[in-house]
Formats: sequence, C-alpha cells, structure tokens
Amino acid sequence: MSSNQYDLLIIGAGVSGTALLYMAAKYTDIARIGLIEKYAAPARVNSLSSNNSQTLHCGDIETNYTLDKALKVKRAASMLRNYATALPDNDHVIFKFPKMVLGVGEKECQQLRERYKIFSPHYPDLKLLDKKAIAKIEPAVAMKNGRFRDDEVVALGSTDEYTAVNFEALSRSFVRQARQVDDKEIDIHFNESVLHIKIEKERFLVETNGTCYQTKSLVVCAGGHSLKLAHDLGYGLHYSCLPVAGSYYFAPHCLNGKVYTVQNDALPFAAIHGDPDVLVPGETRFGPTALVLPILERYNLSTLPDFLQVFRFDRKVARVLWDLLRVRDIRNYMFKNILFEIPLIRKLLFLKDVRKIVPSLRLKDLTFARRVGGIRPQLIDKLNARLLMGEAKIDTGIGAIFNMTPSPGGTSCLENAEIDMRTVARFLKLTVNDEMIKKDLLGDDVRHNNADFPGRVLSGEDSK
Ligand SMILES: Cc1cc2nc3c(=O)[nH]c(=O)nc-3n(C[C@H](O)[C@H](O)[C@H](O)COP(=O)(O)OP(=O)(O)OC[C@H]3O[C@@H](n4cnc5c(N)ncnc54)[C@H](O)[C@@H]3O)c2cc1C
Repeated sequence: MSSNQYDLLIIGAGVSGTALLYMAAKYTDIARIGLIEKYAAPARVNSLSSNNSQTLHCGDIETNYTLDKALKVKRAASMLRNYATALPDNDHVIFKFPKMVLGVGEKECQQLRERYKIFSPHYPDLKLLDKKAIAKIEPAVAMKNGRFRDDEVVALGSTDEYTAVNFEALSRSFVRQARQVDDKEIDIHFNESVLHIKIEKERFLVETNGTCYQTKSLVVCAGGHSLKLAHDLGYGLHYSCLPVAGSYYFAPHCLNGKVYTVQNDALPFAAIHGDPDVLVPGETRFGPTALVLPILERYNLSTLPDFLQVFRFDRKVARVLWDLLRVRDIRNYMFKNILFEIPLIRKLLFLKDVRKIVPSLRLKDLTFARRVGGIRPQLIDKLNARLLMGEAKIDTGIGAIFNMTPSPGGTSCLENAEIDMRTVARFLKLTVNDEMIKKDLLGDDVRHNNADFPGRVLSGEDSK
C-alpha cells in the first residue's frame, strides 16, 4: 500500500525516468521509490516509438561528434545494448540493421575518409565503403535507375550491430523489471500530473491533482516540463527552453538499414536520415526536420502556457535568437524547415534532401507522416547567451535533479540514470552495487562517474 512518502521520487515515465526507476530499484539500497506520470502509461511523449528516430547512437557515424564525445556516447549505447539484449523478450526492444553515414561529393567523401582513419581503431566493425560496397548493402543509395549514380559517394558503416531501439518498449521493460525487485517499495502513479514542488523541513513536497507526496530526494525527467518544475523551485531561472519539433516522411521500402548524412557543423543533428521504422514494416522513414514550435509536447496545444512560462522571453533570449539567425546556414535552415511544414510545397522541397540519400525517389513516393515526431527541449543559457546542444541537467545539490533530454537522450538513458542514481545514493548516504552494474551493464567498459556525462552537468551553484 502506498504511504505517499519516499526516499526517491521520480517525475516522468519516459525512457529517462523509467531507466532511473530500474537502476535505483536494482542497484541501490534505496528502499522507497515512487514514480509519477501524468499519462496512463509509460513513454507517451518523446519516448513514444513514433516520436523519435529509434536510433542507438554509438558515435561512429554521427559526424557532429568528436572522438572524445563519440566514445562517451559509445559507452552509453553499450549499457543500453547490454541491458536490452539480456531481456528474455528483446526482439521488440532492440534491432539489428545495417547502418552508414553517406558522404556525397568530394568534400564530404574526403571528410569521411579522414574520419575513418581516426575512428576505426575504436570501432572495429566500422568499414569504409565505396560505391560498390554501398550497393551491396543499400542498392537504392548507390544506384539510380539501374546504374551507379554519377556523383562521388563514400560511406562509413557496419552491418552486424544493434542500431535501432523501440524506446517505448524499452521504457515498459524498465517498469516491468523494477516491479520484479521484491525487497523494495516501488509505487507507480499514472494519470497524475505534478503541479507544484516545494521544500519543507528538508523534505520535498510534490503536489499533484489530488495528492501531496513527500520525498527526501527528487529526480525530474519530464522533458521540457522539467525546466518549468525547476523554475517552480527557484532553480535554473537563467535558462529558457526552445522546443524544436521534428517531422518525418514515409516512402515505400527502399532502405535496408539506417542511412545518415554528413552533419553541418553549425547545425548538429540537422541533416536528415532514412531508415526502416521498427513499427511500420514495408515503409522507409525520412527525417527528422527541425521546426521551433511554441509548445512543450507535440500535437498538444494545451502545453502552450507551459512553454510561455519556461521561455521567459527577454532581451537575453532575443539576443541568442538573433545571434542564431545571423548565421546564414542556420537562418536558411530555419526558413526551409518552416516551408517543410506547409502542405503542397513541403514534399517538393523535402524530396530534394531525400534524393541525396535515394537519388531515384519520386515525389509520389513521399507521404508526410501525420502525428509522428516529438519535440527536443533545447536549453538557452541566458547568462552566456548561447543555445545548449545535447542533454542538460540541473543538479541543485540539495537532493533534487532536473533533466532536459533532447537527442540522444534515448540512447543515454541508462548512463544518465546511473549518474542520477549515484548522486541520489550519495545524498541519502546509501550504497550502489558497483559489481552488479559492471557485470550486467558495463562489460569491458568500466569508465564511469559524472565526469563522463555526455551532456552538461549544471551544479546548484550555477543553476540557482
Ligand atoms: C524528432 C526526435 C528524434 C529523436 N531521435 C532520437 C534517436 O534516434 N535516438 C535517441 O537516442 N534519442 C532520440 N531523440 C531523443 C529522445 O527521444 C529523448 O531524449 C527521450 O525520449 C527523452 O526521454 P525522457 O524520458 O527524458 O522524456 P519524455 O519521453 O518526453 O518523457 C517525459 C515524461 O514526463 C511526463 N511529464 C511531463 N510533465 C509532467 C508532470 N508535470 N507530471 C507528471 N509527468 C509529467 C510526460 O508525460 C512524459 O511521459 C529524438 C527526439 C526527437 C524529438
């Protein structure tokens, strides 16, 4: 029976919150753990299978990653792979597809050849693929109308790795696994929205529509809403949230695996890719696009007031936006992405980008994927006047942590959960079972702790 009193309370049952539930239940001696989710089931927002690109990012084909960053992401990805492949029913959670990043034209091809020299010692399965080798894996990429395409292409890729994840199924598995831990009190409260958090006598009081929970520590994994709740408690007030929505297009099956394209340094994660959708057999999905929208959840207009609260528009936010618009590549990209959402012309424009991957694709092959694609909650740091890329964390130092998780937040869910689990266990003066974590999740890769966090760890000092 729920006492409404916890040692650790998690808000948000997406892949981040459920990963933490699992880690804390299985690898610590934290006795009473609660999780609150406003919807009726886990993973209804960005972790929903249709709302993200379903990619297990390992760092080798993400050309916006330096080697250092790539190796950190690789560790996070291998934790997820080790967890998922050990599940008894893993065939609907993690998938093997070929993957590659495609360079088109002399400059991109040269860039990939250079990258191969640096990355291949760390990624033994990575291969440098010429046109013929690409054609064996992805004929539709290397060929056009039955002949090799004319432009120069080279790819880096592999064929026998886990590359796709259904983050929704993964979240459900975390909940199931946590519930099986029998020496703990694990409560999951669905259909309850956290409205307000306050501190009273060294306890956090978490108010939902109906109940007031008490907890010694708190981790908020509520996407863009994490910042709203942090503001509520007086933290992260110099951060603003810029929600960037991603849309997709479907085409009849033309790719066997994931085909990424070379990223523009000014716009990490902006280049589109194509891949099979793990839940829509027979189709290939292309995207995502990137469009700034004034809502915190895709297709949910009722989150507009929440956006206005976290946007905290002022001169400093205006300056960051102005600085972004001054960069020609970003300005053109934003404009193009607005056009991508306008019926009639959007398909024509998108086709041009898709043909970089599949040169023979026709206009009639593309269909806008309705109600597919989520929102990345990117943070604006008003003090330093810049847009933060990747995940962000506000660690208050008083037992409350707030996570904002754009890409690749799905891939790094277990590593991020590990960091929060260690912080909370330290705060509660409890212990973490390192041996079991190493055996179950880390394998040969034993680097760990906050210093390895792929995103930004913001301490209480700089987040207040
Ligand atoms: C277009 C797109 C493509 C992406 N592609 C990839 C990819 O290929 N690979 C990858 O690794 N990552 C990818 N990502 C990122 C990944 O989807 C997210 O990082 C991840 O799903 C975030 O999980 P989360 O649990 O932090 O947030 P969410 O999944 O958004 O979950 C937040 C939860 O908090 C709940 N919540 C919010 N407010 C409250 C409240 N007040 N009270 C109670 N509950 C609340 C919500 O209902 C929700 O369930 C992509 C994201 C987008 C948008």
